[in-house]
Amino acid sequence: MKKRTQPAARADVVVVGAGLAGLNAARLLRARGLSVIVLEARDRVGGRTWSAPMGRAILDRGGQWVGPQQHRLLALVRELGIETFPTYDTGAKLMDLRGELRSYEGTIPSLGALSLLDLHLGLRKLDALTDRVTRPALDTPDALRLDATSVETWMQANIHTEAARAVTAAALRVVFGAEPAEISLLYALDYARAGGGLMKLVEVRGGAQERRFVQGAQSVAVAMAAALEDTLVLNAPVRRIDQSAPGAPLQIGSDAGTFTADHVVVALPPALAGGIEYRPALPPPREQLHQRMPMGATVKIHLLYDRPFWRERGLSGEAVFDRGPVSVVFDNTSHDGAQAALLAFIVGDPARTWSLRPEGARRDTMVRLMARLFGSDAAHPTDYIEIDWSTEPWSRGCPVGVFAAGAMRVASPAMQAPTGRIHWAGTETATEWTGYMEGALQSGERAAGEITGAR
Ligand SMILES: Cc1cc2nc3c(=O)[nH]c(=O)nc-3n(C[C@H](O)[C@H](O)[C@H](O)COP(=O)(O)OP(=O)(O)OC[C@H]3O[C@@H](n4cnc5c(N)ncnc54)[C@H](O)[C@@H]3O)c2cc1C
Repeated sequence: MKKRTQPAARADVVVVGAGLAGLNAARLLRARGLSVIVLEARDRVGGRTWSAPMGRAILDRGGQWVGPQQHRLLALVRELGIETFPTYDTGAKLMDLRGELRSYEGTIPSLGALSLLDLHLGLRKLDALTDRVTRPALDTPDALRLDATSVETWMQANIHTEAARAVTAAALRVVFGAEPAEISLLYALDYARAGGGLMKLVEVRGGAQERRFVQGAQSVAVAMAAALEDTLVLNAPVRRIDQSAPGAPLQIGSDAGTFTADHVVVALPPALAGGIEYRPALPPPREQLHQRMPMGATVKIHLLYDRPFWRERGLSGEAVFDRGPVSVVFDNTSHDGAQAALLAFIVGDPARTWSLRPEGARRDTMVRLMARLFGSDAAHPTDYIEIDWSTEPWSRGCPVGVFAAGAMRVASPAMQAPTGRIHWAGTETATEWTGYMEGALQSGERAAGEITGAR
């Protein structure tokens, strides 16, 4: 990224965080004639999107897929001239259930007849509950009971076969980077509602995993940042936001100096927003939100190969596991086929301990697992690349912040409400596609609207 000259220390709006939420807020505020400074802690833009050269291609360490319902992201991608391509999903998928490998077609793994029926009924019940969730979710009839229930508790009571529970849990684990026992049922339902239903979150064709970005998903943030010219300051973690002097501009203290503004957009996940010192102290509901929404845990691993040999055997490269360490595997070969790649997600409990294991043991485990799925060709990757998002100090986990049972009733009312002249953005605050890039864009749009509406 080219070196930028230092922007003026005073602007109408300071945006904290150059992820998609912050960049979208900045872009829209500038388009409406306001001066903006964006302060970003890292030495790069994009936050939870991060694309990097891997072998002969640029692949994604962070968020990577876009679905057909994510209209803001798709429109932005068109506007910026960014190319996408369909996710490869031709051929059979594999499911490792209790150590037994089976193959299947479509989205639902092949289980025994009873388990399959149980799974369908369970998903129908979840859909019916999702349809009942209102905006805001706490207005849903029975909201407090739904919030007080964990997804695990609900599954134990409503999905009766072990296999159907295992498949449902595997899907939810990957969506949230958390164990079903750690997720409020109301939060999971609201999250599914925001994305058009649980199946839309997990499907490839017609769902959230339908397409990928030719130059990686971070290309969206990079193109947005380029248009912001000299208003972006990298390596500028914000430490303090002071709005204690009535009528005076806000003071924003960062490692790159102090900036002043009439409004601030904090475009961070709540767990990161809680790391900033606020003067005066935040109202208790907002402070509670920062304490009650930990990040999910996800490790994303690429194994690179000379060719996508699994395709030759009629396999899509997709595999689902009911037990750790890996939850799902995908074909992540580059758009032109120049770099063959398998992608594995380790999420929830095993993700929290993965980095504690010796590096060689981690690699060996993954290579053995790929060979078991796809045969001996998989035993010789040309490279092995992993990222543990929990160890990223400016993300502290991913893909999203998660409410445990009982947390929504306390913390969710503070999610979007501005605190004085501090406006809150970030995908966690979105009401459409919460947790996704689309949600990040929506949240930036809302925060920008709050400011321009308030002036
Ligand atoms: C492994 C992984 C896979 C994912 N898969 C998908 C996917 O396929 N599709 C999808 O749509 N979404 C996916 N997501 C989620 C998606 O990436 C996020 O929803 C989205 O990028 C969030 O954007 P944001 O702007 O809200 O937050 P962030 O991207 O987290 O941006 C926040 C920014 O603030 C910065 N920051 C933090 N603290 C400070 C501070 N004190 N001062 C200044 N700056 C600070 C951070 O460095 C960061 O740049 C995935 C995420 C991960 C990590």
